[in-house]
Amino acid sequence: MAGTGRHQGRTALVTGGSRGIGRAVSRRLAREGALVAVHYGHDAAAADRTVKEIETDGGRAFAIHAELGVPGDATTLWSAFDRELAVYAPDAEPGLDILVNNAGITLPRTIEHVTEEDYDRVFAVNTKAPFFILQQGIGRLRDGGRIINISSGATRFAYPAIMTYSMTKAAMDHLTLSLALELAPRNITVNAVAPGFTETEINPTLKNPEIRQALSAYSAFNRLGQPTDIADVVAFVASEDARWVTGQWLNATGGVRLGL
Ligand code: NAP
Repeated sequence: MAGTGRHQGRTALVTGGSRGIGRAVSRRLAREGALVAVHYGHDAAAADRTVKEIETDGGRAFAIHAELGVPGDATTLWSAFDRELAVYAPDAEPGLDILVNNAGITLPRTIEHVTEEDYDRVFAVNTKAPFFILQQGIGRLRDGGRIINISSGATRFAYPAIMTYSMTKAAMDHLTLSLALELAPRNITVNAVAPGFTETEINPTLKNPEIRQALSAYSAFNRLGQPTDIADVVAFVASEDARWVTGQWLNATGGVRLGL
C-alpha cells in the first residue's frame, strides 16, 4: 500500500519493467511505496498497462523508453529517466535509490548455430547495456542505495542450448561482485538475483505441455517460477532488511537441481 510500505520515499528504475519479471518487480516495489520508472524498449502499450496497474493499486509510476543494445542506449535511458522524473514528480529529488537491471533477451542456440550477429546482439542487450547503465547510474544513485542485476540459474549449470545467453549473465555476475566492493563505502549494495524457468514471454516454448512438464520437473517444487516469485526476492534485496547482503548471487530458481 502506497504511503506505508518499506520502500516509501524511494525512487526505483526497473529496466524491462513493462512485462514479465520486470513488471512484477515494478508492481511489487510500487506497492511497497516506491515511485517506479517502468522502462521498456519496444512495447509502449505494455509499459502503459503496467503503469496503470500500479496506479490502480494506489502506487506511483511512469514509463520511460529506451531501446537497449544500440549505440548510446544508456545515455538515452538516463536522459529519459531524468526528464520524465522531473515531469511526473517535480518535487522529487533527482536521482534514485533502487536500480534493477532486468531487461534481457535470450538466445536459444547451440554454439554451432550462433552467428557473430547473434553473439553481438545478446551481449549488447544483456551485458553492454547494463554495464553502461551502471556506469552512468552510479552518480545518480543515492548513498545507501540498491543495485540488483537479474542473472540466471543457467550461469551455474552446463546448459549448451543457451550457452551464449548464459555467458552474458555470467559476465554480469562478475560485475556484481566487483561493483559491490567498489560501492560499499557508499553503503550501496550490489547483488544478483538468479531466476530459474519462469513463466514469461521470453520462453514461448512453455506453451507446449510436454516442455512445461519437463522444465517444471527441474525445480524441487515441480513447478515453473512465476514472475511474482522473483519480484518478492528482489523486493527483499532492495529493502533495508538486506543491508548486510552484498556481492551475492541469490538463487531464486525454486531449487533447480538441488539434489543429485
Ligand atoms: P520478457 O517477459 O521477455 O520481458 C523482457 C523485458 O525486457 C521487456 O520489458 C522488454 O521490453 C525488455 N527488453 C527486451 N529487450 C529489450 C531491448 N533491446 N531494449 C529495451 N528493452 C528490452 O522476459 P523475462 O522473462 O521477464 O526476463 C527478465 C529478465 O529475467 C531477463 O534478464 C532474463 O534474462 C532473466 N531471466 C528470465 C528467466 C525466465 O525463465 N523467464 C530465467 C532466468 C533469467 P520491450 O518488449 O518493450 O522491448
